Amino acid sequence: MKICRILKDSDPRYASSEGGSLRLFPKDWLPGMELPKADGISIAAEKVEAFLPPVDPSKIVCVGRNYAAHALELNNPLPVEPLLFLKAPSAVISEGDAISLPSQSRQVEHEGELGIVIGRRCKAVPIDEDPLDYVLGFVCVNDVTARDLQKRDGQFTRAKSFDTFFPVSRFIETDASVSDLALKVIVNGETRQEGRTKDMIFDIPFLIRYISNHMTLLPGDLIATGTPSGVSKLNAGDVCAVEIESIGMLSNPVRD
Ligand code: MG
Repeated sequence: MKICRILKDSDPRYASSEGGSLRLFPKDWLPGMELPKADGISIAAEKVEAFLPPVDPSKIVCVGRNYAAHALELNNPLPVEPLLFLKAPSAVISEGDAISLPSQSRQVEHEGELGIVIGRRCKAVPIDEDPLDYVLGFVCVNDVTARDLQKRDGQFTRAKSFDTFFPVSRFIETDASVSDLALKVIVNGETRQEGRTKDMIFDIPFLIRYISNHMTLLPGDLIATGTPSGVSKLNAGDVCAVEIESIGMLSNPVRD
């Protein structure tokens, strides 16, 4: 199933996508509730007032240096345990919204990543439970980064949290198997990043369990699982696309 969030009569509503149309979920449905049966009102996708980011997360947990080739391209050692940092939820934008280059940085870079959407409250996943049972689905995300500020600050908060620095794809894909998917970032039609999710140093079940042992994950929270090699500078006028096999596509223009 593909789940999206739209504006309907000026209110946010969840819906599933089937072919060219959307089926509305009940008004009060939120991530964390049981998925409703597909008996809601159907509306044509082109009649939607606006597509919203698919979730409104309480937090965005990012994993740094989770692909060896990317750690090495930035002259960083390989991590012996996941390197976690938080990104401000106010950075989230939708498919098609512009990434704004802030005046404070001269080196803003794309980081295409597989995003995990949490579907159930998740605290210290017990050893006999599958961490994937806590997942609602997967999205394409772009962990946009002011690389010069990241290097200058020695920590990531400012460099990662400017408004518009977290584009999220329109649909949450609930049925994909994500252990070995192709991931690409294409800027102005040119492939810049290419990798496979099987090359993550710490895989998705490990990451969910690990993070849940440090902080409680809530329904709608996002985990960005790290980026493969090939990060590069974004310039005003660029169009940056993240494509992940079986998950979808995320495309955003870049503006000053
Ligand atoms: Mg990243």
